[in-house]
Amino acid sequence: MSSLSLQSVGKFYGHITALEDLTLEFPDGRITAIIGPSGCGKSTLLKLCNGLVRPDQGAVRVFAEPLDYRELAPVRRRMGYAVQGTGLFPHLTARDNISMLATLEGWGNDAIEQRLVQLMSLVQLKADELQRYPHQLSGGQQQRVGLCRAMMLRPAILLLDEPFAAIDPITRIDIHEQLLVLLRAEPTTALLVTHDMREALRLADHLVIMDGGRVIHSASKEELLAGMDTQDPDRLLHALLAQREARS
Ligand code: ADP
Repeated sequence: MSSLSLQSVGKFYGHITALEDLTLEFPDGRITAIIGPSGCGKSTLLKLCNGLVRPDQGAVRVFAEPLDYRELAPVRRRMGYAVQGTGLFPHLTARDNISMLATLEGWGNDAIEQRLVQLMSLVQLKADELQRYPHQLSGGQQQRVGLCRAMMLRPAILLLDEPFAAIDPITRIDIHEQLLVLLRAEPTTALLVTHDMREALRLADHLVIMDGGRVIHSASKEELLAGMDTQDPDRLLHALLAQREARS
């Protein structure tokens, strides 16, 4: 069994069905992209995985155990989470935002410094930017700090909610390449929420296509795209979403 899975999960907000009968296994040590139109339930799915949202039906299993909502802290320490809108602590510098958890975990200064240097290079942050507070950084820089914070402890599971949305396209492509190198060196079960099919095709091994709170496809990239025209990613997503209508 994979270290992260959902069984028959449903989540409802009043009369809104955010997620309906989701059963998914995320492949270990791989990047899974969760793609679909706005409002289809991508962020809710990610929040379910670290217990920020509790399912109304079904179960979430993390590290092969049902999530224990009374004791989320130990599990969360092994999961990195980069939220939409960065979620940085405004009163801490970028450096302290990134290193805070490592300090709490008792890492030595040298280990913290080494990891910081590695992550700064990954996201192309400069030393002087680390001294700044979040409000002194651009949206794209804040997002990169958020990504470093999520990755600081080398988590076994990494949850990324649109982590590159505010980053300019050129820098984004560089960061994608660096991220792939790092995740190959530190195998991580990563979930990447995105509405950008190009990004999903570049980064992911496995694709989950969602619409209206349901999973339309969950398959390896090769399997899903066999025989499909991948020249135009937007059209490809459209075609994959349309397959559901053809089937139902
Ligand atoms: P996505 O990330 O794909 O844009 P979300 O997971 O944020 O979608 O939301 C899925 C659906 O659930 C949407 O209809 C959204 O409005 C609704 N929703 C999400 N969170 C809440 C909430 N806290 N209260 C009420 N409705 C919510």
